[in-house]
Amino acid sequence: MQENGRRRRKLGVMGGTFDPIHHGHLVAASEVANRFELDEVIFVPTGQPWQKADRQVSPAEDRYLMTVIATASNPRFSVSRADIDRGKVTYTVDTLREMRTKHPDAELYFITGADALANILTWQDWAELFELAKFVGVSRPGYELNTDHLEEHLRDLPVDAVTMIEVPALAISSSECRRRAAENRPVWYLVPDGVVQYISKRHLYVPVGVEGI
Ligand code: ATP
Ligand code: MG
Repeated sequence: MQENGRRRRKLGVMGGTFDPIHHGHLVAASEVANRFELDEVIFVPTGQPWQKADRQVSPAEDRYLMTVIATASNPRFSVSRADIDRGKVTYTVDTLREMRTKHPDAELYFITGADALANILTWQDWAELFELAKFVGVSRPGYELNTDHLEEHLRDLPVDAVTMIEVPALAISSSECRRRAAENRPVWYLVPDGVVQYISKRHLYVPVGVEGI
């Protein structure tokens, strides 16, 4: 990976709705960064997520700010507005094209949960995705990557195109955090402290009609 005698920068790209960002996301990013010696992990909150058309997603600015708050203390974590500012439906390939344009010399690693990885690889243009980045699927409790239907394609790819890694078992999900917040149960320690306070300040996830009480 030497170019002009210099090591190429390695950038992790972690896409997500981050509604809200939680410690599962942060541990996964940190684990992958350590394992692949990444120089930086860029968190990219989605604009309008196409997989989540079934529920109301919090405003992009709230999700962006929570992601900034959660990552602010880590010098190797940053947040990109790329997907939010694009203003149309987000596909992984769009995110990666934009990252490639912004960081033409970097080696990109797209970090995603095993469940989401299976989706991306099923629906999107493989050839271009693998030209743009390597893929790292992190396993989370309750999700096993079913590669049966992918095996045929995986066989033709370089061995490092997709790596599955296990992260410490954190059974945290944004859905569970939203449910807890809606029921007035604590989200302390599931999300960073600043995010707990932001959720409360902005009355996020409070059922309609209850906010303002
Ligand atoms: P929801 O419960 O609404 O689906 P989520 O917790 O999956 O939310 P997303 O913003 O959809 O959060 O996730 C962004 C990425 O992080 C996805 O690739 C997802 O698979 C991964 N991810 C989410 N939770 C964890 C976790 N606890 N450990 C590892 N990866 C996770
Ligand atoms: Mg999810």
